[in-house]
Amino acid sequence: MTADTLIDLKNLSPDELSGLLAEMGQKPFRTKQIIRWIYSRGATSFADMTDLSKDFREALSARATISDLQAEVVEVSQDGTRKYLFRLADGQTIETVRIPMEGERATLCISTQVGCAMQCAFCLTGSFGLVRNLEAGEIVNQVCAALKDGPINNIVLMGMGEPLHNLDNVVKALQIFYLAEGFGYSARKVTLSTSGLVPQMRELGQRIRVSLAVSLNATSDAVRDELMPVNRRYPLKELMAACREYPLQSRERITFEYILIRGVNDTPQDAKRLVGLLHGVKGKVNLIPYNEHEGSSFHAPTPESIEAFQTYLLNRDIVAIRRASKGQDISAACGQLKGQLERAQECLPAPESK
Ligand code: SAH
Ligand code: SF4
Repeated sequence: MTADTLIDLKNLSPDELSGLLAEMGQKPFRTKQIIRWIYSRGATSFADMTDLSKDFREALSARATISDLQAEVVEVSQDGTRKYLFRLADGQTIETVRIPMEGERATLCISTQVGCAMQCAFCLTGSFGLVRNLEAGEIVNQVCAALKDGPINNIVLMGMGEPLHNLDNVVKALQIFYLAEGFGYSARKVTLSTSGLVPQMRELGQRIRVSLAVSLNATSDAVRDELMPVNRRYPLKELMAACREYPLQSRERITFEYILIRGVNDTPQDAKRLVGLLHGVKGKVNLIPYNEHEGSSFHAPTPESIEAFQTYLLNRDIVAIRRASKGQDISAACGQLKGQLERAQECLPAPESK
């Protein structure tokens, strides 16, 4: 068999993996054993799996492979943020960002697509359009690679791409993140951020548990239509209804990301409308000062308007956190991930509107 026809075990959901092993005549406990090898010990070859019989290892090698990603470039910021550039099997590139938190903690920001189809007016990734979805293995391998630089406490699906536009592969990757014998993350430690694809938000809630973040970024349909074309399909009323209905456990909340853009969505009227929108929603707000980038006509807010916006929310008992943007000196900050610019431009697709 050629490499092309071999199954990458990292593309299989846990159920699909047990299915394959059952088909090969193996007992159920083998699934856990193999999961431990791949995701807990980082094995990339069946030869490493010394507690499996030689025959079984050979049978596995004939059918399957275990993919791996090695960073082509790692940039390290003054604040310790690391940006990894990975080249995929077909030559496309994606970026992953490791953000140091207090103490020894770290959050990993991973990509789910090469580019993004959503065309948000303020986002560099969005300006290149969608090249393709990532496979489950390509999503998972970003974590495998970054773990070599130390433990990762939280995973956020906030890199390149709209995760709910690649729902099947994202759900598979989440299932893998949660495997007790593997990475062992709980749903509290993994956050998926969406621009607001309402039907897929409902489907996500039915299929798997994950902490949800919604990129809100505006408080009126008129402004949100301009900033985020997805709003023309799923306006604020529908989006907020989907948020109210999203399954949450007792102390969980939805995180609303709100980029403050000078003169566009940072006024006192916006703060007031935001309070109204959040009525009856279990949510908290992350305020993110807009990161300026080349070719964009938007500007970062003044420190005074950030302060005023936050104070207004806090005074109305809304949890509002100001997110410090890290990794700016290496263009690793929110919305600045761009992959290989030339490559993305070569494959500029038609805007998707599914
Ligand atoms: N597509 C998903 C997840 C990736 S985008 C989503 O949109 O939610 C990650 C976050 O970066 C989003 O909250 C987006 O609003 C924000 N972002 C995009 N461009 C930005 C910029 N120039 N400055 C600050 N945040 C930005
Ligand atoms: Fe895509 Fe998110 Fe950027 Fe919008 S903000 S273009 S959804 S990556």
